[in-house]
Amino acid sequence: MMKPLQIALDGPAGAGKSTIAKTLAKKLGYVYIDTGAIYRAVTYRALKEGIGLEDGPALAAMIHHMDLRLVPSESGQRVFDGVAEVTDEIRSSEVTNNVSFVARQAEVRDALMDLQRDLAREGGIVMDGRDIGTHVLPSADLKVFMTATVEERARRRHEENVAKGIPSNFEQLKEEIALRDKRDSERVVAPLRQADDAHFLDTTDLSIDGVVMAIEQLMKQVINR
Ligand code: C5P
Repeated sequence: MMKPLQIALDGPAGAGKSTIAKTLAKKLGYVYIDTGAIYRAVTYRALKEGIGLEDGPALAAMIHHMDLRLVPSESGQRVFDGVAEVTDEIRSSEVTNNVSFVARQAEVRDALMDLQRDLAREGGIVMDGRDIGTHVLPSADLKVFMTATVEERARRRHEENVAKGIPSNFEQLKEEIALRDKRDSERVVAPLRQADDAHFLDTTDLSIDGVVMAIEQLMKQVINR
């Protein structure tokens, strides 16, 4: 039996990381861990409690009182803050457009590091985020940095919204995505960046199956190494 791998999938907003991570995990019998959901749950709670989104120490104190749980399920990953399920709430545009402020606080990133490493400890995981290859799992077995043009990423998100019946404006999505990338890339602590040993994958012209196949090829190289 092959050792279960740790696969780190990083990249900008809307690059298709979660779709790919979910599909790949299912195919491999691995657990999908969406770290963006953790930052979103913290942001949601801070908004609800009126805690300053750039008040690192207050946010860290709040995190230490939280019982955050990611529960794998058929439809993806469910997110709980204590007994309250926040799976849908953390996807609101209010959370989406504020999460980068919370995520750039050093105290917040420190407070969430152990939780993420614990989730990945046993391997057999596909973890997606921004700094998984660079900070959370620097010795992951396989690191992939996925991206696509901002037009393509906005187009995918727009189609997703339309399919779900959510009101959506392409131009506005494009602006919001570009702004979130800028904040995530320019922050001082653990910015969005490709790890030196990550494989770069431009998905602009690839289908979901195409991306999954490309990553499976990379896995074969890891296994045969
Ligand atoms: O992946 P998703 O778009 O849900 O992530 C939401 C936000 O959480 C990102 O824009 C980023 O600010 C933050 N994040 C992060 N580090 C991660 C995952 C997400 O800073 N590993």
